Amino acid sequence: MSSFKALVVDKVDGNPEMSIQTLTTDQLTAGDVLIKVHYSSVNYKDAMIAVNGQFAEKFPMVPGIDLAGEVVESVNEDFQPGDQVLATSYYIGTRNFGGFSEYAKIPSEWLVPLPQGLTLRESMILGTAGFTAALSIDKLEQNGLRPDDGKVLVAGASGGVGSISVNMLSDIGYHVEASTGHMEEVQYLKSIGAKRVIHRDEVTDEEDKPIRKRQWIAAIDPIGGKTTQYILSSLDYGGYVATCGLVGGVEVKTTVLPFISRNIQWIGVDSVKFPMEGRKKIWDRLATDLKPSKLSRDIATEITLNELPDTLKEILKGQIRGRFIVNFI
Ligand code: NDP
Repeated sequence: MSSFKALVVDKVDGNPEMSIQTLTTDQLTAGDVLIKVHYSSVNYKDAMIAVNGQFAEKFPMVPGIDLAGEVVESVNEDFQPGDQVLATSYYIGTRNFGGFSEYAKIPSEWLVPLPQGLTLRESMILGTAGFTAALSIDKLEQNGLRPDDGKVLVAGASGGVGSISVNMLSDIGYHVEASTGHMEEVQYLKSIGAKRVIHRDEVTDEEDKPIRKRQWIAAIDPIGGKTTQYILSSLDYGGYVATCGLVGGVEVKTTVLPFISRNIQWIGVDSVKFPMEGRKKIWDRLATDLKPSKLSRDIATEITLNELPDTLKEILKGQIRGRFIVNFI
């Protein structure tokens, strides 16, 4: 390989612009393992980087916070040519050139050996969204949540974190309710495990009301803002919400009332700097008990590098369903 293709974002007249460019390995940012990327996945954060120019510490940047592929060269003897590996988050696609590239150099301390039970393709259908869904569920369970406890709400259900959470929770026996802004996706959401689907307006707190009727024992919340407000006001006694996202805003107005009268917990979820030891355990669960049954068939759409710029623009408009992966092989 003397040269290869990558999506590059650069600032032109102060604005981020995407183009497919030919690069050489000398142009890649520092990393002790060179990887032939087989698949990458498209996350909301990638769109914020590529379309809006947010999070990138410098330009030009190759975005793509997730990648999976085969080791080509490695300075670290823990990784050998031919090993299958995946990497998500850390500073991939923000400080270091990322996964929207046929080749990537990644620091070995950010690499996870592909767990048995997952293909490279499956690992990228999951990607950061699947990892975050699994981490959220793991945290809820560590706090005591069990399938018999009651109904679990998944907000933003047609998106990446949402779709995978619906399917995972349903597979392991939870009664899942889904909220979405895309009511045309009701059948899809039921097919991946939702028992009931409601419109996202029904879980948006426009009145800043801290206490409402109890509806769910737990919730997965990739939305933030007024959706988080609504969930906090509607959790059952002893309930929990795992918040990971901000597509609906960052400001949350609540009071101490649901916390001190309903004994609820608000759990934060970060996948970016989540420590490696725990990270490998979550990937092991993603390959076994939390591997979603509808992963490859219903949740995934495969695209080429050339189709990527349009997909990145659509994700910011909330126009995509499930998970999009880029195939480089
Ligand atoms: P997606 O774009 O795949 O899904 C987001 C979904 O949110 C959409 O499909 C839509 O679902 C819903 N939505 C979109 N716009 C709005 C809006 N204005 N108000 C309410 N709902 C909206 O994104 P991801 O699943 O990849 O990521 C979701 C969020 O989680 C992002 O904020 C992302 O940055 C964050 N995240 C955080 C991580 C962490 O480490 N903390 C890791 C991974 C993701 P619907 O129409 O069904 O409601």
